[in-house]
Amino acid sequence: MRFEKDIVFYVNDTIVEKINNCIKLASPNEANGYILGNIQEVNNNGDFNYNYSSLSFHCIDSTKGSEISFFLDNEQKMLELNTQIKNENLKLIAILHSHPAGTTPSSTDKHNMKYYHNSGLKKFTHLIWIIVDSRNNKMNGFIYLNNKLTQIKLIVGDY
Ligand SMILES: [Zn+2]
Repeated sequence: MRFEKDIVFYVNDTIVEKINNCIKLASPNEANGYILGNIQEVNNNGDFNYNYSSLSFHCIDSTKGSEISFFLDNEQKMLELNTQIKNENLKLIAILHSHPAGTTPSSTDKHNMKYYHNSGLKKFTHLIWIIVDSRNNKMNGFIYLNNKLTQIKLIVGDY
């Protein structure tokens, strides 16, 4: 898989704790959630870096077996999201879900990433996908970039 070192996604300890709680609540189902925050573009003499800062995490009730296509398939969820984005004055920066083992995107995940990317909605264009391994809560981040699934640099913990 391609790796893009110029895209860095920061998840601080407060957000990590919320993610871990969300996974606990969802068990034995997969946890779903999303992260709001900011994206900062840094220009180092024409070499662009993108820093994503996580500022709030929202856990989605997984007891009804919700899928990660929740926003595009659920008008109610989309309305809630738009309200939160407006209220908190932040961007949607990541969609997160857990796997029973590992953080490798499944074929369904790849399909969904493409689906969001090609939805024509601006807020989904630069979306990061975070997958958490529910055995040890380790996570990895991915982006759909230039028609290719690309892993990004994820920095977890206080910085
Ligand atoms: Zn998945």
